[in-house]
Amino acid sequence: MQVIPSICTFCGVGCGIGLRVEHGRVVGVEPQPGHPVSQGQLCAKGWSTSFAIDPANRLREPLIKEHGQFRPATWDEALERIASEFRAAQETAGADGVGVISCARATNEDNYAAQKFARAVLGTNNVDHCARICHSPSVAGLARTLGSGAMTNSIADIDLAELILVIGADVTENHAMIGARMLRAQARGAKLVVIDPRKTRLARLADIHLQLRLGSNVALLNGLLQIIFANGWENAAFLAERCEDITPLRRHLAGITPEQTSAATGIPVADLLRVAELFSHSPAAFTAWGMGITQFQSGTNNVIAVSNLALACGQVGRPGTGINPLRGQNNVQGACDMGCLPNVYPGYQQADAPAVQAKFAQAWGAPMPARPGLTSLGMTRAALDGNLRALMIIGEDPVVTDPDQRQVARSLQALDFLVVFELTLTETAKMADVVLPAASFVEKDGTFTNCERRVQRIRKAVGAPGTARCDWQILGDLAARMGYAGMDWDSAEAVFDEMAAVAPIFSAMSYAELDARHGLHWPCDAEHPQGSPLLHAQSFPLGRARLIPVSQVEPAECPDAEYPWLFTTHRFHFHYNCGSMTRKSPLLERETPAGLVLMNPLDAAEHGYADLQAVRVSSRRGAVEARLQLTDDLPRGMLAMPYHFREAPCNRLTNDAMDPVSKMPELKACAVAIEPLPAGAAPHNRIDASEVAHASL
Ligand code: SF4
Repeated sequence: MQVIPSICTFCGVGCGIGLRVEHGRVVGVEPQPGHPVSQGQLCAKGWSTSFAIDPANRLREPLIKEHGQFRPATWDEALERIASEFRAAQETAGADGVGVISCARATNEDNYAAQKFARAVLGTNNVDHCARICHSPSVAGLARTLGSGAMTNSIADIDLAELILVIGADVTENHAMIGARMLRAQARGAKLVVIDPRKTRLARLADIHLQLRLGSNVALLNGLLQIIFANGWENAAFLAERCEDITPLRRHLAGITPEQTSAATGIPVADLLRVAELFSHSPAAFTAWGMGITQFQSGTNNVIAVSNLALACGQVGRPGTGINPLRGQNNVQGACDMGCLPNVYPGYQQADAPAVQAKFAQAWGAPMPARPGLTSLGMTRAALDGNLRALMIIGEDPVVTDPDQRQVARSLQALDFLVVFELTLTETAKMADVVLPAASFVEKDGTFTNCERRVQRIRKAVGAPGTARCDWQILGDLAARMGYAGMDWDSAEAVFDEMAAVAPIFSAMSYAELDARHGLHWPCDAEHPQGSPLLHAQSFPLGRARLIPVSQVEPAECPDAEYPWLFTTHRFHFHYNCGSMTRKSPLLERETPAGLVLMNPLDAAEHGYADLQAVRVSSRRGAVEARLQLTDDLPRGMLAMPYHFREAPCNRLTNDAMDPVSKMPELKACAVAIEPLPAGAAPHNRIDASEVAHASL
């Protein structure tokens, strides 16, 4: 048996794993001893990695759909069909009549190739990925306050923190090894404060849990900040030295009383005062958040309010502090860094800046698109309007994961042509005209970037099943067929080196340097050849940080007579995202029944519901059948569903009302109704033709 060092492919923590390889197959996984992030441990998902890439479940050859049925095809035939369909779509609808959705699970090299294909081959900035629906408000909000949208500190800073403030993140479930590290910090004496409408596992263990009303984040954060200002607890020296004038923010908050904040959020005044005092007086407060504050139409404002609080107290730029978004997928940070966003090139170089366009036109030998492109949800809408005619989706499953699933499915049906690169025949792949078999992370070399900006190497451990190939190889071949020769790389390392040459924040990185050091944090350049675990110690990218006044905005849809319950979504520890990988593990699958909707037991008693009763939950957009699970994790008046299970697709219910800045849909709050199913009826959610067309293989 060989053990090949690699990185866990599930969440953004980026734990070090060893792939146990025997007779050309990955037969197991073990923790990498001494890995700086995971410290020789893994969570249940990490231990189950080998099930996720079991070749028995995999696509092995290209598939072309004819008369509603897939048939096997050669690579030549499939690539020729894709090239001709994309050309035809652009003849009909122009350069921006096509788009690319890249993948937060794929490597940096694959993502670099995807955005280069969109820009240099297709001539469009219509390129995006699922960061749109997880942390785009973090990127947008921190860009406004600091000038950089990533974690300011490292995971290891948790060990140095005296106070840990978690808002809107279910850390033990979704970033388990960070959650464990926070609990170890608490055990050595750090204070743990959790702000969440649900009693998450971390909230139950916290020193203080502020169980705020769903969606009242800005009201709470503004209220805490006003208590700090009113008592003179702000860090005046830090504000004077490092920040722009905060007079507008002081004026904006003046007059907010703790009682008003308490009424707006449901938090007792005494708890507000205690948290404001603890946070502002802590020698080192580490602030972290997740999608519990970003997936709102006020997502960008929520992030700005977090940033305001940390800046006002000087809790940034030092070890043990920081403003730290916990990125979700294993390489969602990297997909953003590589420029798989419609407004930036690799390394966050602005797509609408003429100098940047000229730089990439010269580097890539092709004219660059003049204006920023469409977001993923913008592409969905453009498809419905007939303005987007062909789409490439690399390793994502928006039919299951995006809000308002019926609309997503209708938009994919409205396309002239859809090609999907995938490991298995997902719900989205079933809707494609062509499906290409992709190599998994154990079958290729490359890099992932974890949530703390650490770029780490993964290594090919086994061959890909059948004729499956790396995304960057597929895209290079397709580019050549479409007349562009600038993507003929012969290795993942060659892709990485090209990326590092055009993106200054990676300019001092190489595979050799990454191998030698368990990875490097960007920016890594001539000034920081060892990388940058801590950002903003001396100054911010903006020069001085900005504290920007923001106001509370209620969710777009609040309970009313017709839909009287507040609804939110969440995740379980044992599954990951849409479940396409973790649900292959019988060990993980046995832990959680599919198709649950959570309700407070007091609500159940009042309305006559019982544990495990079959119910139908409906919103203005659709309905889902599921079984009730009674738990006081939820406050009264709220229902919640995990989004891992295709049998109970909760995103039929969710709202696509958007944050105007980041275009983040409001996945975390909408209004629903609930009714019991007839006695003896079992929940059943038919994936009907309007959602998944041509689902036969
Ligand atoms: Fe993998 Fe995340 Fe678990 Fe680490 S915490 S083992 S990266 S799923």
